[in-house]
Amino acid sequence: MEPAALERFHSPGKGNGLRSRRRVRPGELLYRDVSFAYVLTKQQLGSVCERCLRSRNENLHRCSQCKVAKYCGRSCQKEAWLDHKQECRCLKSIEPNFPPDSVRLAGRIVFKLLRQSVCPSERLYSFSDLQSNTERLSEEMKDGLRHLAQTLQLYLKTEIQDESQLPPAIDFFQIFTKVASPGTLLETFVESKGMECMVMLFSVADTVVTCNCFTISNGEMQDVGVGLYPSMSLLNHSCDPNCVIVFEGNQLLLHSVREIQIGEELTISYVESLMPTRERQKQLVRQYCFKCDCLLCQNQEKDAEKLAGEDHAWKAVKDAVNEVRYPKSKEEWKHVLARCQNLLSSNEGHLPDTNIYQLKMLDCAMDACINLESWEEALYYGSRTLEPYRLYYPGFHPLRAVQLMRVGKLQHSQGMFPQALETLKQAYNIMKVTHGTDHSLMKVLMEIKEECEAMMRIQ
Ligand SMILES: [Zn+2]
Ligand SMILES: [Zn+2]
Ligand SMILES: [Zn+2]
Repeated sequence: MEPAALERFHSPGKGNGLRSRRRVRPGELLYRDVSFAYVLTKQQLGSVCERCLRSRNENLHRCSQCKVAKYCGRSCQKEAWLDHKQECRCLKSIEPNFPPDSVRLAGRIVFKLLRQSVCPSERLYSFSDLQSNTERLSEEMKDGLRHLAQTLQLYLKTEIQDESQLPPAIDFFQIFTKVASPGTLLETFVESKGMECMVMLFSVADTVVTCNCFTISNGEMQDVGVGLYPSMSLLNHSCDPNCVIVFEGNQLLLHSVREIQIGEELTISYVESLMPTRERQKQLVRQYCFKCDCLLCQNQEKDAEKLAGEDHAWKAVKDAVNEVRYPKSKEEWKHVLARCQNLLSSNEGHLPDTNIYQLKMLDCAMDACINLESWEEALYYGSRTLEPYRLYYPGFHPLRAVQLMRVGKLQHSQGMFPQALETLKQAYNIMKVTHGTDHSLMKVLMEIKEECEAMMRIQ
């Protein structure tokens, strides 16, 4: 990696941005960043290591102090201690309650700021540089943030008795203007009820806050954490971006996915590109305060395919998909699968697999089958997703690479070695651009690929 590949600049109409200082080929690692602060999301608590963010449901080692933080082993626990030490006492003090993700993250930010250490994640842009958009907040929204700040105060009480003794740069309210988004505020309201602080009702429908946070995903592209990477907050959005972000643990990797010229702005997509134009725009306005007018948005590209089929059919599927909440037990997965099977059979002939809600349903059915170890049925649903994925994630997209890899693994489990090898090769060709050959996921992919080749030699 050449560290000087990118620089901060003023992007016309967008404010700050990042641009390339040289010509870049697809698949170059443009930036590798450690997080300024991050937390594991509450939903993953206990099933993922707090440090390396790898899923491992059993045998996680528990912090003997707070009994909340869990690690895959001693070395992860040791590495995490600096970030966890003060937080640990706070978590213990509010037992059996647990802070909302945004409050836990804010707590870690406070301790980080107090340490006054230089963080490499601030090389291009620092935490204090992050924009907060306070002037655009409604009074109601500000009330919401004040309540978050109070929750934080309560949570940190054992470590910080008097907020007014803190350096002026550390202001609880200001921290939330930088990290909270309407989505997290809503969540906070629901979750804080358990804590002994009152949270006032506030409407989130028409309020806007910039969220500088990145959602951290694991190898399977499942969301596992939330983190701050100030320098990477400079990246602006495009629905058709020239870069993608993937994670290795809590490390952020920025790869180019096409050729980029000297001086060209670097972009990533802030939203799921699968969503139709209207939905993408709604989310961008709500969460990031701007309207996208890229070519894809202007042409409403692929919207007709995305919403193909009978209206009443896909609307029912959309509702059903939105209802699914991280099943925790086999029983719940069975329930989810039955629901999917029902809808899929009743919609046969009415909804093409390219309809994005039908596609999400197929994905959901595949997940359920994998969790229930019904490999053959999982492969059946997974195979149906490949063509729509090719259509909606053209070029190099990490989601398509991971999907191909999952289907390839299923084919391998069914003894379909030549097919598996073909699918895994396709995954490899995308992943070497989106993840890079050093990524741990790539190593897993190579192992399965080699097993396939070995099996084919024997047969
Ligand atoms: Zn670990
Ligand atoms: Zn602890
Ligand atoms: Zn757009």
